[in-house]
Amino acid sequence: MKHRHENLYIGGTWVRPTTDRLITPVNPSTEEPLGSVPEAVEADVDAAVRAAREAFDTAGGWADWEPERRAEVMERFATELDARSERIASAVSSQNGMPIGVARQLEVGYPSAVLRYYAGLARTTEFTETRAGLLGGSVEVRGVPVGVVAAIVPWNYPQVLSTFKIAPAMAAGCTVVLKPSPEAVLDSFVVAEAAEAAGVPAGVLNIVPGGREAGAHLVSHPGVDKVAFTGSTPAGRAIAEVCGRLLRPVTLELGGKSAGIVLDDADLNPATIGEELVRATFTNNGQTCFLSTRILAPRSRYTEVVDLVTELARTLPVGDALDERTLIGPLVTAQQRERVEGYIAKGRAEGARLTTGGGRPAGLDRGWFVEPTVFTDVAGGSVLAQEEIFGPVLCVLPYDDVEDAVRIANDSDFGLGGTVWTSDAERGAAVARRVRTGTIGVNRYLPDPIAPFGGVKGSGLGRELGPEGLRAYLQPQSLYL
Ligand code: NAD
Repeated sequence: MKHRHENLYIGGTWVRPTTDRLITPVNPSTEEPLGSVPEAVEADVDAAVRAAREAFDTAGGWADWEPERRAEVMERFATELDARSERIASAVSSQNGMPIGVARQLEVGYPSAVLRYYAGLARTTEFTETRAGLLGGSVEVRGVPVGVVAAIVPWNYPQVLSTFKIAPAMAAGCTVVLKPSPEAVLDSFVVAEAAEAAGVPAGVLNIVPGGREAGAHLVSHPGVDKVAFTGSTPAGRAIAEVCGRLLRPVTLELGGKSAGIVLDDADLNPATIGEELVRATFTNNGQTCFLSTRILAPRSRYTEVVDLVTELARTLPVGDALDERTLIGPLVTAQQRERVEGYIAKGRAEGARLTTGGGRPAGLDRGWFVEPTVFTDVAGGSVLAQEEIFGPVLCVLPYDDVEDAVRIANDSDFGLGGTVWTSDAERGAAVARRVRTGTIGVNRYLPDPIAPFGGVKGSGLGRELGPEGLRAYLQPQSLYL
């Protein structure tokens, strides 16, 4: 399937790009080109910010609409996205290597649910509250939309991560300039089509596919009021520095190296624990920020845990992302595979022991595949135990007692997710509460749209999702009356 787009979605219409530069995404399962889209350069970003600015600043416009009216648009948008589910799922899967089954579960359906959830919150949130003044009179406290939002997303979950920003921004009355990542842009054109069909007013959503340069230009643009970023920790730091200098509000969802703590009472039968454990550790070929890639096992059951994880990894079907049977697809690019293979080499050099994987799967001559890989005998301070690999690579570390497990889990520069595996959910929750991360699951892990999602330490600043995610797009204004 060849995708070809010639114009950019800016100001509610399709406009000619400034240059003839193209982005040409490649299918990581086959190494075949998928088509082309225009690359937005600085002048296109300027046009998008202008359109978003105008839509936001116009009196009686989007920001001034009754929340109910915005909610109706958002619900229509969700319906139009649902009508394009299969196209979106296959576009995502063929660009970033996400197994099609995963794309159908997470990249479609879930984003429209998030839009509907925030449409609901737009209806029920009290945006204005009047308080009796302590010094006489009263004070009206209004939640005012923060303004034009620069939303910058990575390639691994282009739909989910865009909606985490667009939905609360729209509910709050903000307008958005979205910059997708060059590796996963085709699906953003389907989103633009859905927005157009839903009657999203001109300038409320603008899309500028481009690379780091376009992103950097957008972040520091004088017409932008807030930045919402998901991506790597180094890029997040660079963006935070710019926003710090500009005193520009910023939300950062960054990398992770989460711990999966297996307690000594866990049921290690693959039939009981297998599916959720695989989901929490390998989803999207390991290219998911919150995965529990450090498995912590009690010394008393270390061999059992290693055997279970090894067997699960060894039997995962690896193949073309568009094949329905595939659970592990390729890595997104050749460079990403090199990076992951570099980590595997470092792990070996550090003295960790491979129990399965470590190479390229047999029989797949094309595509950027890496075998699901498990390391044991991993030292706590090692590169393997500390750095985000972003591929299908797990390490299993032993612990002495729960105290030790919590210490190892917290011995990380990151703090995004985590899991606890146990037969006693209450005991699991008690352990989970001691882990310093923004989110954590007991016997499962899936971010729920009703609850804040995000990280501490190197995993980021601020939260998306839940009512907290809406607040990030509102600024309080106090009127003394
Ligand atoms: P990346 O940081 O290289 O790029 C992310 C996006 O930011 C892209 O659109 C890129 O073009 C843009 N960008 C890069 N540098 C920029 C800059 N200086 N200014 C403005 N824009 C810039 O990340 P990636 O490799 O595409 O994605 C993988 C990373 O994303 C992983 O580290 C992963 O953990 C993280 N991630 C985090 C979450 C989360 O919610 N915490 C979710 C998914 C992915």
